[in-house]
Amino acid sequence: MSVLICVELDNGSIKKTSLEAVAYGAQVAEKTGGQAVVIAFGKADPAELVKAGQYGASKVLHAADARLEHENSLAYADALVQAVQQESSKIIILSKSGLGDAIAARAAAKLKAGIVSGVTALPETDGGFKVTRAIFTGKAFATAEIRSEIKVLVIRKNAIEIDETSLSGGDATVEAFQPTLRDSDFTATIVSVEKADSELSLTEAEIVVSGGRGMKGPEHWQPLIDLAKALGAATGCSKPVSDLDWRPHHEHIGQTGIKVAPNLYIACGISGAIQHLAGVNGSKCIVVINKDPEAPFFKAADYGIVGDVFEILPRLTEAAKSLK
Ligand SMILES: Cc1cc2nc3c(=O)[nH]c(=O)nc-3n(C[C@H](O)[C@H](O)[C@H](O)COP(=O)(O)OP(=O)(O)OC[C@H]3O[C@@H](n4cnc5c(N)ncnc54)[C@H](O)[C@@H]3O)c2cc1C
Repeated sequence: MSVLICVELDNGSIKKTSLEAVAYGAQVAEKTGGQAVVIAFGKADPAELVKAGQYGASKVLHAADARLEHENSLAYADALVQAVQQESSKIIILSKSGLGDAIAARAAAKLKAGIVSGVTALPETDGGFKVTRAIFTGKAFATAEIRSEIKVLVIRKNAIEIDETSLSGGDATVEAFQPTLRDSDFTATIVSVEKADSELSLTEAEIVVSGGRGMKGPEHWQPLIDLAKALGAATGCSKPVSDLDWRPHHEHIGQTGIKVAPNLYIACGISGAIQHLAGVNGSKCIVVINKDPEAPFFKAADYGIVGDVFEILPRLTEAAKSLK
């Protein structure tokens, strides 16, 4: 029996969130007495795929068919099901994302498997199979029991701590995997992908510096961008900011925008409305800068700075530069 982990790639490398899923899957495999096998779709750098071994995987199935190069949840789910059958996998693991959830739901339906999304901890396997998942946008946790033979788990970002300095596994072996692809999965295909200007992906960034209406207007964004550059961070914003076209829509964070889970989230002039918090409460550490000491964001913050963003941001940037 194996644990099968479906990873997402970015420029041929396994995404950080997917590496977390691999590490999680390896621990589940150890607990349940199986091996951790990874499946990856599309173009990939073989040297990057073997790295899954460092996170505990023994083997990587690489489905390199050119038709799988662009994200396609229908085809990926079909291929995943075929890999599950080949490997006799009973537990399937994905990392939580729009794509991860779409593949997981489709594969679970095809396999008649129980599925839990937003998993935050290793399963309890004594007398059943129970997993904890985040509910109400991370404000509470629920325990779910999966009773089906095959189980699908979608792991929340940052749910598992990876200490990069103590990775123990070796290289994984990489095997070509050729699923039977159905034309019906390709009735709509992605022709081209235009990447956002920002070099750093907001969902993958370790640090996010984000601005709200307190930044006063698009012409005042430079101090925030300077801090982001000094920290190697991605930039984000609140919904009104993107609605007002101060910043591009792909930076909009929150319930109706992107959900981020960086190690450090720095909120600049954002009030902390519940809809914004829904997109950031997976962050490990939240720093809030706001001139209003009563701003609701302070209740969700690990560190708070009461002050004017335009005074604080340049000082933080200088401090970040001097640390380098
Ligand atoms: C259905 C629905 C969905 C929504 N989805 C989202 C979503 O996904 N994401 C989202 O962000 N919002 C969302 N919203 C909007 C949300 O309710 C808030 O209105 C929004 O988050 C507020 O944005 P803000 O904090 O930038 O602006 P404001 O509420 O105007 O807050 C600005 C903050 O800046 C501070 N400030 C002002 N000047 C300075 C200064 N010089 N220095 C320091 N601080 C300063 C103020 O004290 C204030 O706290 C949604 C709303 C609804 C109804």
